[in-house]
Amino acid sequence: MKNKDLEKLKFSELLLNEINLIVISCDTTGDVNYVSSATEKISGYSIDNLIGNLWWENAFFSKEEGQLYKKNVIDILKGNATISTKPYERKLKCKDGSYRWIEWRDSITDNNKFISIGVDISDWKKTEIIKIQSETIIKSVDLMIIVSNKEGNVLFASPAVEKMLGYTVEEILGDKWWKVIYDNPFQALKIKNAIIDYVFLYTKEFTDISKSKIKTKNGDFKWIEWQYSKGLDDTYISIGTDITNRINEQIELKKAKETAEKSLKVKDEFIANMSHEIRTPLNAVIGFTDLLLETGLSTEQREYLEIMKNSGEILNSLISNVLDLAKLDSNKLEIENISFNLHKNIYDIIKLMKIRADEKSIELNLIIDPNTPTQVFGDPTRLNQILLNLIGNAIKFTNEGSVTVTIKYIEETKDNTLISFEILDTGIGIMSNKINTVFGAFTQAKSDTSRIYGGTGLGLTIVKKLIKLLNGDITVKSKFGEGSVFTLNLPFKKDHKTISLSEIENGISTDNKLGLKILLVEDNKTNQILAKTRLERWNCKVDIANNGIEGVKKVQKNMYNIILMDIQMPVMDGYEATEIIKNDLSKNKSKIPIIAMTAYTSKKDIQRAFDVGMSDYIFKPFKTSDLFSILVKYGGSKSNLIENEPQIVEEKNEQPNKEKYTDLKYLKEESFNENAILKLLIEQFLKDLNDFLIVLDLGLEEKNWDLLHGATHKIKPSISMFGISKLEPIIHDLTNRFRHKVNLDDIHKLTSSCVEIIGYVKIELENELKLIINE
Ligand code: ADP
Repeated sequence: MKNKDLEKLKFSELLLNEINLIVISCDTTGDVNYVSSATEKISGYSIDNLIGNLWWENAFFSKEEGQLYKKNVIDILKGNATISTKPYERKLKCKDGSYRWIEWRDSITDNNKFISIGVDISDWKKTEIIKIQSETIIKSVDLMIIVSNKEGNVLFASPAVEKMLGYTVEEILGDKWWKVIYDNPFQALKIKNAIIDYVFLYTKEFTDISKSKIKTKNGDFKWIEWQYSKGLDDTYISIGTDITNRINEQIELKKAKETAEKSLKVKDEFIANMSHEIRTPLNAVIGFTDLLLETGLSTEQREYLEIMKNSGEILNSLISNVLDLAKLDSNKLEIENISFNLHKNIYDIIKLMKIRADEKSIELNLIIDPNTPTQVFGDPTRLNQILLNLIGNAIKFTNEGSVTVTIKYIEETKDNTLISFEILDTGIGIMSNKINTVFGAFTQAKSDTSRIYGGTGLGLTIVKKLIKLLNGDITVKSKFGEGSVFTLNLPFKKDHKTISLSEIENGISTDNKLGLKILLVEDNKTNQILAKTRLERWNCKVDIANNGIEGVKKVQKNMYNIILMDIQMPVMDGYEATEIIKNDLSKNKSKIPIIAMTAYTSKKDIQRAFDVGMSDYIFKPFKTSDLFSILVKYGGSKSNLIENEPQIVEEKNEQPNKEKYTDLKYLKEESFNENAILKLLIEQFLKDLNDFLIVLDLGLEEKNWDLLHGATHKIKPSISMFGISKLEPIIHDLTNRFRHKVNLDDIHKLTSSCVEIIGYVKIELENELKLIINE
């Protein structure tokens, strides 16, 4: 080769290398006799490994493929095949096993040499594949992909738009999109701006616009959930999913829920109405049985009547239970928060239950921790319901031995006192595998329980739910055959106020003669007769009005001590009649206490009764003792009414209450009414009181607060045992002040009322002592 040719070759070689071109050439034998140096760079093989037959062996994916190509080249050179005039793509195998995409161009030189030139197109090919893949994805997914510019004009829309909404891409390009999917142009503008703001300014509009109801081409509406993100070159991408089915399901679900709630409400109302309807005649059955029992009867008749009364009462309590459960389940049970005497409440329950315990010859014991506060805020009715249930069960499931109720003070926070009530029995017990089920509705620990002991399995369910509502808890421990203990903890708000001593019904027998003039406004005839008979037995004169209007007319003509007013009546209801009596009649008439009588009442109804001016309320069917208490409280016992005497109400109010400072009921019960024990207790307490007065004097003079604290603390339990409820809050207050040495400036005011009350207490107790000694 001439120098010039050599230089030319070198130059071409350099150039080929520079521009990364693969060049191979071969002759009619098919052996490769030239490979450009760029081929070495692209394939990783050295030129030596590509020359001759090695090219066909190494640069192809399989030997067969290489030999096929080689044969084709030989054929071309021999004129047996035609050369491809178009560029074609074929992979080149590299030394490391990977491959590169090469675009080949073949040609034949003048001296019959085959030359193939290859350009590495791998990188381009990759982007091309990605492009194809993304296009396939965009076409195949069920998502609408829309690219819009900063003005909200649609630049690109995936085919899914047509599938989902029916519009062709053409129909929605540019600002046509906003016109076709929204009927209201203002709404369209608002949403468009919100999206643009969200995407480009990052405002928080996203959630508002993430779901939209848009119109399809055939006029239907579809719910689409959109996801927005910023695209390239001031564009944004909206990806939309069709959620119409999901939304429709939600709507259906909501509808179903509403229907279910409605039918639940109907069920609750049905239960409430049914209970009410059953109660009214039942009330008459029980009431008349009561009255019959007071007449002369043979032993047999009395026995039958007792059974009848008993069954009536069981039915009544079952109805109450079902009603309570329905109310509890629909969160409709209202909880009261009133001040009441806890000790008295418990004592009354025990008294009631003692009758049952005596019938079964079981002991019923009550232990009250003296630190338990007397006056608390809470719901006495619900507490009674809970305790009656638990003690009732304890007695029911105990055949011999005892039931012991222990009330313990647990702890005190600023306003609350936590009190535990423990009901322990020596009864049949509960099997360990059943212990967790006893609080379930209609469950009894043994299948034969109902047959042997009666009951429905609702009691504990209600108890548990009530306790939860009162923010307390209940636990049970039991040993089969040995007995059970139910423990409940309940919080009560402390009542710091002075306690009223007007617990009128105490000690008053319902056989008393009241001698009141009463107006009974009631539409139900049986109730009229029942109440009238009952009231007349108490020597009361009873007028009857059948509805509100008749009632008002009677009050216009006559004067009464008390009006018993039914709330629901035809023609004019009790509220309206009360309003007229309170506002439109003479001053004296307006002062007559009106008592609401009601069978099924909510707190709201009671509030309304108070709002129109009623003084109190009584539930039907009323217990004889409740009715009696109400009459005594508002009518005054044995007061003599002078017909049309205008001063009657004031006179009643002016009658001084014979206030007692002590209440020995608890003590008498505790001492089993044994006078000797009671005498000892009173004597000891009188001594303690004297000591207390001496220490009080001394401590105040010396300002020895610790000494005073010790003294008040020591006397405190006895004060509650002797039922000196007027003194309790004072001693409580003094103890606190002495203990923390606070508010001591006006301490003399408190100590002097304390001394004054103790003076009265001493007189009362000394009189009591005299009575005991004389007995
Ligand atoms: P009921 O007493 O009407 O059957 P409860 O809900 O009050 O329903 O009680 C459910 C069940 O728990 C009772 O049937 C009884 O098997 C069991 N049980 C409750 N209290 C006691 C107890 N003190 N001793 C033994 N078993 C009890």
